[in-house]
Amino acid sequence: MTKSPSVSLSGHLVSYLISFALPRYCDQSLHRARKGRFYHPDEEAWMAKLDTVIHELYHVSPDLKGIRRIERGDGTYFADCHGQHYHREVADMVQTYLASGPDPEVYEFLRHDFDQLQQRFGGVVGTTFRMFPSSPQRYVERLTVQPPPPTDTDLVGVAVEEVRPSRHRERFSEGDLHIREFGRETSRRLVRTGAFRAA
Ligand SMILES: [Zn+2]
Repeated sequence: MTKSPSVSLSGHLVSYLISFALPRYCDQSLHRARKGRFYHPDEEAWMAKLDTVIHELYHVSPDLKGIRRIERGDGTYFADCHGQHYHREVADMVQTYLASGPDPEVYEFLRHDFDQLQQRFGGVVGTTFRMFPSSPQRYVERLTVQPPPPTDTDLVGVAVEEVRPSRHRERFSEGDLHIREFGRETSRRLVRTGAFRAA
């Protein structure tokens, strides 16, 4: 079976990871995205970035069992994890959040694209896994109890091969994190100590 690796920080198991591609994420704009159709044309373009975050969070299953599945009216599930109303609901949640009067400082950085962020703050850094640009990948594990031979006539006679040991790691922690500074074309690892260490 395939499994997700575990990631823990300071002893806490991280249930979900969202990764952001830089600089692409910082340059997201409602005017260039299909989700723009769920927003009023006068809406500010940077809201696409907030939409992305809420979109991903909305995929978290309320029972924390993987990705939320979307039920149809008849009790079956949509094949993809969006269904018909997902994008509209996400856009509504973005509006609800902004209307709730959050501290503007929390989302201020979303107002600026990548070049503006660099000019304003002198650089853009992000936490990455050491094997950047890769991140933890699902790995294959051999079942302790092997399933019985297939009885399905289509599968009888199909060669069964031994599972090769997985090349992917099963566990990650803060020791596997680096801080990188991102540019338009490249990124480089920043080595910092003390208060700026990866957390
Ligand atoms: Zn999605």
